Amino acid sequence: MLKIPQSIVEAWSIPQRDLRPIYEWARDHVRDIPGSPIKGRFDIRNSPWLKAPLDSLIDPLCRHTTLIAPVQTGKTLLAELAVAWRMVNDPGPCTFTFQSDEMAAIEAKTRLMPLLDSIEAVARILPRPGPLRTQQEIYLGNQFLVLNSANLAHQQSQSIRYKVNDELWFPRWAEIYPHAVARVSAFEAQGISHILDISQGGTEGDTAHSSFIGGTQEHWHADCLSCAKPMPLRFHIVREDKTRAGVVWNKEAKRDDGTYDVALAAGTARFVCVHCGHEHADTERTRALWRGSGRYITTTEGRRRRSFTYESIVTHSLETLVTKYCLAENDFARLGDENARINFRQKQEGRFWVVEKNIIEMSDRKKSGYLTTTYQTERVPGEVARIMVCDRQQAGWWVEIGAWTPEPAYRQLYFGKVETREMLRELQRMYRVDDWSVGQDRGYMPSEVDRDSVAFGWSGIQGAKTKGKRWPMRDHQGQIINVPISDTYVAAVGNGHTAPYIEFDGEWAKDMLSNALAGRGFPYLLPDDFNPLWPDQVASEEKREVRPGVWHWCEVKQNNNHALDCAGMMIAAAMARGVLRFDPSG
Ligand SMILES: [Zn+2]
Repeated sequence: MLKIPQSIVEAWSIPQRDLRPIYEWARDHVRDIPGSPIKGRFDIRNSPWLKAPLDSLIDPLCRHTTLIAPVQTGKTLLAELAVAWRMVNDPGPCTFTFQSDEMAAIEAKTRLMPLLDSIEAVARILPRPGPLRTQQEIYLGNQFLVLNSANLAHQQSQSIRYKVNDELWFPRWAEIYPHAVARVSAFEAQGISHILDISQGGTEGDTAHSSFIGGTQEHWHADCLSCAKPMPLRFHIVREDKTRAGVVWNKEAKRDDGTYDVALAAGTARFVCVHCGHEHADTERTRALWRGSGRYITTTEGRRRRSFTYESIVTHSLETLVTKYCLAENDFARLGDENARINFRQKQEGRFWVVEKNIIEMSDRKKSGYLTTTYQTERVPGEVARIMVCDRQQAGWWVEIGAWTPEPAYRQLYFGKVETREMLRELQRMYRVDDWSVGQDRGYMPSEVDRDSVAFGWSGIQGAKTKGKRWPMRDHQGQIINVPISDTYVAAVGNGHTAPYIEFDGEWAKDMLSNALAGRGFPYLLPDDFNPLWPDQVASEEKREVRPGVWHWCEVKQNNNHALDCAGMMIAAAMARGVLRFDPSG
């Protein structure tokens, strides 16, 4: 028999299969991880919570692994290492699917392709750029790697052995997921397929949640430094007798108005053992000991389909987390804005948000002590903005006029219907609203709305067609954040004129309104002689689960939601004016 010298094997690029665990292979082959905050060779001791999921990925009896984890804690790295290891050690057709084409392109350019190129054992077998290798695709003998997006056209082609699905909490996955995972069936029949689902937390009932509860549901634990029992490393732990364990801080940090003294809470944060009550200090030493004794504890036994989760407490200081948590709670207490709270739950705890409220109702109201006529000519004491919003109809307009004070607090001054443009102008003058503080709904007959804007100095304002839409913005520290209103757009009207308008997310505005009316946000006052149509009209929609895990506001009474539309525009306009501030502390 002919013996082929090792040097020729290497020269001919015949890879040697190395079936050690992925993390051992990675320690020898991965010199640096592009885009990772930890520099240098891959070392599983830095992130021991990835060990069991990495084992699950190459377990011949396991067909499906799910990892639900906080942002920036290595969940994408898990997928990247598996892709690299398989290319040389157990090749097969693989697709890596992202929530959008943009995300697939960013991942390919900034992380996965540079990682593959940096691993000598992989780089050696990769085709040169050309028809067999493009920015997001590699074709190589009996295997390929394609990075694509979660749309139906991409999920209906070839048979796939390895499927990676990223950020399953995005609502679009609800429709795509069954098609995406069906692609592995031919390889599944041979017992050699593997699906990997990775995501931050989402909403209970969504695709990420279903994927997690379909598996073993293993939670990350570490040994208590006093009683040595394994304790779940979770931010929120409530014992059966309702006492708190997990992350706690001094009670004095909670003020009478329900807000937190953030510095006091963060400065006194510690971690309490759920079993013995031992308090763990917020130190690097504590986290190092936790890494040393950390392991998963499963909820359901099984090997065919495993799911794992951990929280960002494994890498972040308690001070950092408590600061974020308290800022988010303060936002909710002051404004009724749930965004930061939801972000904390999903992105730091890696857990699922539960939608609780679903109708707009007015809590019992005390008399507000003013009438629709009280502030027509006078300002409200401390008033910082007076805004008029108009919801255009086929005939006439529904109009709301209101005044904001800096707490922030809102006083509605007028709500009703007017028939003509002249009456609209008269109403504006009667309540002394500046031209630039008038917003007209641009969702209906936008060119006429734009002409009004040019003629009177008004602005257009419209709810975005995509529910839950966010716009990127830089905050005061220069970080990119996502906010529920757009910058000002300008529409060309002709003769060199332009008309300004903004877009906003109507779902966010309705959440804000329903919280404020229920007494969970900024004070929302109505005149004692308020229009009796108003309470009926704001109750014209309710929040419903339209698909598993996807909640939207839906009409329950048709053609009767003008007050709700006006209230939404009013809240968006107040945010555009900076009266309501968006604090993305999640
Ligand atoms: Zn203990």
